[in-house]
Amino acid sequence: MSSALSAPHFHSEEAAFTYVEARIWANGAVCPHCGGVERVGKLQGTSTRVGVWKCYQCRKPFTVKIGTIFEDSKVAMHIWLQAIYLIAGSKKGISSNQLHRILGVTLKTAWFMSHRIREAMRDGNGDIFGGAGGVVEVDETFIGHLKGAEKKRAFHHKMKVLALVDRDSGKARTMVIENVKAETLMPIVLANVAREARVMTDEHSGYRDIGKFFAAHGTTSHGRGQYVDLEDRSIHSNTVEGYFSIFKRGMKGVYQHCSEKHLHRYLAEYEFRYNNRVALGCNDAVRADTLLKGIIGKRLTYNPAHGIA
Ligand SMILES: [Zn+2]
Repeated sequence: MSSALSAPHFHSEEAAFTYVEARIWANGAVCPHCGGVERVGKLQGTSTRVGVWKCYQCRKPFTVKIGTIFEDSKVAMHIWLQAIYLIAGSKKGISSNQLHRILGVTLKTAWFMSHRIREAMRDGNGDIFGGAGGVVEVDETFIGHLKGAEKKRAFHHKMKVLALVDRDSGKARTMVIENVKAETLMPIVLANVAREARVMTDEHSGYRDIGKFFAAHGTTSHGRGQYVDLEDRSIHSNTVEGYFSIFKRGMKGVYQHCSEKHLHRYLAEYEFRYNNRVALGCNDAVRADTLLKGIIGKRLTYNPAHGIA
């Protein structure tokens, strides 16, 4: 078996563009200026930049980078593909510092690339969880420190994350939440979970009314050390707890600091890897390819004063 990184698209700029084009333009090149598909051609020749096409309908040049996370980036495409492969394949994530050392780009560029890649990992797919009477586990966790928040009792000063896991499909969905009150939690659960689902939570009061809206509501009392209901062993939220433990270990070990402004992108990263994991039949190459398909329409702008907008 040869090294995964020996594939041509990780080394040759030409091969890298061809690789990306085949995934973004599955049915042939499309001019991003006028939508033309027929009178387009790849510019050849030594004086031409790699990956440039011309539309003979509107007479404008274009590349596959337009409208994607690669737009406006001066980083070579094969370096982007290396970064995507590394981020998609590392179980707990990979720090900007490490990317900077491996890829030979500046730390600032590595940071920017990894945020763009996280953006590509965001799933626009809002499938309802727990259809056909499946089980959905819901739980919240606290992480880091809210900027400027006073350290008080409980979790007032921490950032809050909600996770839902569909036990049948094995997929997770996570989001940043303002607080853990019922008025915040309930609309999210209602919007993401089918009414026929059985919903599992801990005894947190914010979930008290769930039983009124869904087929069943199972709770375990973590406060009393109960993690599985002994009468009905399907009543537990251990899957979602396991999800949080991977997320927290990664955040602590790899990223260390994360501001609330960027937390949703880190959530997207862990969620993406979890939902495209080996146990679901997804190997490293497939995962990197799936990530690549998410690059469209995810452009981020960089504001020197504020970082990524
Ligand atoms: Zn055109």
